[in-house]
Amino acid sequence: MDEIELLADADVRARDYVAGARDRRVFPGQKALSGLARFDEALPASGLPAGQTLALLDEAGSPATVASNGPRYFGFVIGASQPVAAAAERLAIAWDQCASSFDNSPAAATIEKTAARWVLEALDLPAGSAVGFGTSASACGLACLSAARRALLAREGWDFDQEGLGGAPQVRVVVSATAHVTLVKALRMMGFGLRHIVRAPVDPFGRIDPAQLPPLDARTILCLQAGEVNTGEFDPFEPLIARARAAGAWVHVDGAFGLWARACAATRHLTAGIDGADSWTTDGHKWLNTPYDGAMGICREPQALAGAMNSDAVYFTASADSQKNLGIEFSRRARGIPIWAVLRTLGRDGVDELVARHCRQARRLATGLAQAGFEILNRVVLNQVLVRLGRDEDTCALREAAIASGETWFGPTVWQDRPAFRLSISSWRTTDQDIDAAIELLGRLRAELGAPRAS
Ligand SMILES: *Cc1c(COP(=O)(O)O)cnc(C)c1O
Repeated sequence: MDEIELLADADVRARDYVAGARDRRVFPGQKALSGLARFDEALPASGLPAGQTLALLDEAGSPATVASNGPRYFGFVIGASQPVAAAAERLAIAWDQCASSFDNSPAAATIEKTAARWVLEALDLPAGSAVGFGTSASACGLACLSAARRALLAREGWDFDQEGLGGAPQVRVVVSATAHVTLVKALRMMGFGLRHIVRAPVDPFGRIDPAQLPPLDARTILCLQAGEVNTGEFDPFEPLIARARAAGAWVHVDGAFGLWARACAATRHLTAGIDGADSWTTDGHKWLNTPYDGAMGICREPQALAGAMNSDAVYFTASADSQKNLGIEFSRRARGIPIWAVLRTLGRDGVDELVARHCRQARRLATGLAQAGFEILNRVVLNQVLVRLGRDEDTCALREAAIASGETWFGPTVWQDRPAFRLSISSWRTTDQDIDAAIELLGRLRAELGAPRAS
């Protein structure tokens, strides 16, 4: 097969795969899992035909995927790729651009500039903020937090780039008691020390309680959350950011999925005051339904991010125009292209509708599950439904039975020291009928297990 035939073959296989997204088992069955043994080969001494490699990938790989791109997957906030995002990504991969700067790819740099402007408009964040497109909220968070610490140290007259941390004024971090594990990981990687990270107490909904906010000063990074992973709740930004501003602290917001609530009239109130922060991270690959890996690190002061992420050869010239100076990667795909494609195709209305629909479906699911004998543990302010049964062993057994059915997938969690499970609605493919089918399935499994209704 020549290059074009090979790509055509891949396209046919990809189209067949996507065409089956609705009906595929959600978690692969035993036969498909056993088929993965075909990948356990010795490294070939001599190359094998490319067409055969592609065939193996499809024949053994495709059946053993998780249908997170389908309508009945409710794990994490994984979303499904919007058709235009997947298609744009396919074309951009054919371009094979190193999208580090305009010189390397005028097309990528120009499109990402538009994408950056649109992201700020859609999220109603300060115009002129820098937007670095990276692989994940993890990586973009690391970039923003590095910028935060460097900027706070600069205000104290400390040159972090030249001096490093030895002898530097001490910067503290305050995070929510329910902060996402990847935010804590970034802080640990930066050397903050898990023992020294201050945890702000939360209220029963999982939001930082302003009345119990630890002291802040001009050497503090305060990390807030838009969308707590279990409950979907938002920290009260207005009072918290006002306190941080008065103290001269830096405010970073982790909004991996939840920041998109700001692009929807029905949920925008949850984000009130969030634009007063200094930096924000959000994903494309979660609620915006772009393919992996696409995320954004956003910084109000472009030079703070460009300085921290500077990879210009001439040290003092960090241009906030080049993506290589706005994130961790140097050589990179243009991760802003699928984000641009989704925003252009959905428009403001379409993004509003996507978020509103998922929140409405989450409420439908919660109501249905409550009627079917489950306990709903959260207020369902967003797209997350936190569920359990009266007995912990029933909660665990029910989730296992649901996954074994191949009809759905959702993740386990622990809420207030007891096992629970969480369903997140974030796929554009999910219809109300899919929600009703999930309610019916879980209700039936509860009865089959003989698990009493939660009171
Ligand atoms: C998923 C998630 C992250 C990490 O995002 P990645 O893109 O997976 O790195 C951080 N914070 C929250 C609240 C998340 O849901």
